[in-house]
Amino acid sequence: MSEIRNCKRCKRIFTYVTGPQLCEVCKKKDEEDYEKVRKFLRDYPGATIQEVAQATEVSQQLIYRFLRDGRLEVASDSPIALLCENCGVRITSGRFCVDCSKKLANEMIATGKSLHDALSQKRSITGEERARGLRYLDEYRRDKNR
Ligand SMILES: [Zn+2]
Ligand SMILES: [Zn+2]
Repeated sequence: MSEIRNCKRCKRIFTYVTGPQLCEVCKKKDEEDYEKVRKFLRDYPGATIQEVAQATEVSQQLIYRFLRDGRLEVASDSPIALLCENCGVRITSGRFCVDCSKKLANEMIATGKSLHDALSQKRSITGEERARGLRYLDEYRRDKNR
């Protein structure tokens, strides 16, 4: 089954089949970027997000996406702070801490809701997450202007 979607990177419309929501061109670029970041983090686990972005020429946004997607993992003492989207606790990969992953999974089973529904409901309740998102954005902008 395939459908028409917008590529996450270049926003072009493409025929989506499976895997990441990227067009063929961006899928290749994404893989290259991912490899660069993965290797750099392996060699320099103590690097900050700015250092990784500078050395690999991959945007911080994209690095965060790799982490959020669970494709990349940072060391537990890494200066790169990745926070659980639900409770804000520090994690090294993915979107949620172990506790929240379990809680969300249980909620999903209990209510029959999809993860997306469960999240959008949470989003409307907590303004804290929005504040955190804005902080990321500020950092990102500051870094770009440097
Ligand atoms: Zn694309
Ligand atoms: Zn959590």
